Amino acid sequence: AAKACGPNRSQLFTAELHAQLQRKFMLETSLIDAIKREQLMVYYQPKLCALTKKVIGAEALIRWQHPTEGLISPGEFIPIAEKNGLIIPIGEWILEEAIRQAKLWSIKEHPIIVSVNVSILQMTHTNFVDCVRQLLKQHKLPPHLLNLEITESMTTDITFMSNVLHALKSLGVSISIDDFGTGYSSLRYLSQLPIDTLKIDQSFIRDLNIDNQSIIKTIIQLAYSMGLSVVAEGVETAEQELFLIENDCHELQGYHYSKPMPLEHFETILLQHFN
Ligand code: C2E
Ligand code: MG
Ligand code: MG
Ligand code: MG
Repeated sequence: AAKACGPNRSQLFTAELHAQLQRKFMLETSLIDAIKREQLMVYYQPKLCALTKKVIGAEALIRWQHPTEGLISPGEFIPIAEKNGLIIPIGEWILEEAIRQAKLWSIKEHPIIVSVNVSILQMTHTNFVDCVRQLLKQHKLPPHLLNLEITESMTTDITFMSNVLHALKSLGVSISIDDFGTGYSSLRYLSQLPIDTLKIDQSFIRDLNIDNQSIIKTIIQLAYSMGLSVVAEGVETAEQELFLIENDCHELQGYHYSKPMPLEHFETILLQHFN
């Protein structure tokens, strides 16, 4: 019966596939110790006010400095962490790092809002709201300096999500919908969840064809009419910047200004902007 299913397994199970699986297994195993071995790092990417071009925020983006594999991007290991549950401790780790850093900036340099990506799995973990409350208190961070970026997902229970987000909002933090426009239920989310900011997905910005221009304009209008702010991510060119400014997008983020950078580099940029 197996023969009737097509080419035999050994033909499909090529050397390349084997190598991929081996890497995945190896990453999965070594991710368990990544926090305590201090292999995780936070990179920061500035968010600029579209009017003043000042740095008003920074997105914290996680990186994994693997001892043998080099720098590994979150696109590769966050999905693994979401499958095996390590996203909970990893998410908590980066949240604390970002909060600690936001506090330091608020004292030493200039207050900037730090954005942290939060996986839906973290939010459905019962202690998430308590965790945020405790970390804010412990590091004495004014809550308005913390922004949480969440991504829409088809599987989310919207009532549950709404409760969690209301609880987070009552702590005083702000909430953004990341990758807006690509999710499953954007408009329903918008009417039922206490959101502050829409973050236009970079795929719309990357290719400014006529359709994408209309979509971007519509998202900005939508944000305005609902009293939300709107951020564009993935801004890479002066042309994209001009289009976004002409259409009254509030905040800009992308390689055109800066790639995500290790802390020291980011602080150099901050000093350039504020001194
Ligand atoms: P995201 O939250 O949508 O972050 C934006 C991604 O776009 C980042 O990739 C950033 O480096 C990249 N980017 C920024 N500007 C530009 C640009 O101008 N052009 C292009 N081509 N790319 C740009 P990164 O750092 O590899 O992160 C990928 C995704 O991994 C993030 O997408 C986010 O969903 C997830 N992620 C990153 N850090 C964390 C984290 O701490 N926790 C969780 N749960 N997810 C994270
Ligand atoms: Mg994000
Ligand atoms: Mg995200
Ligand atoms: Mg995004």
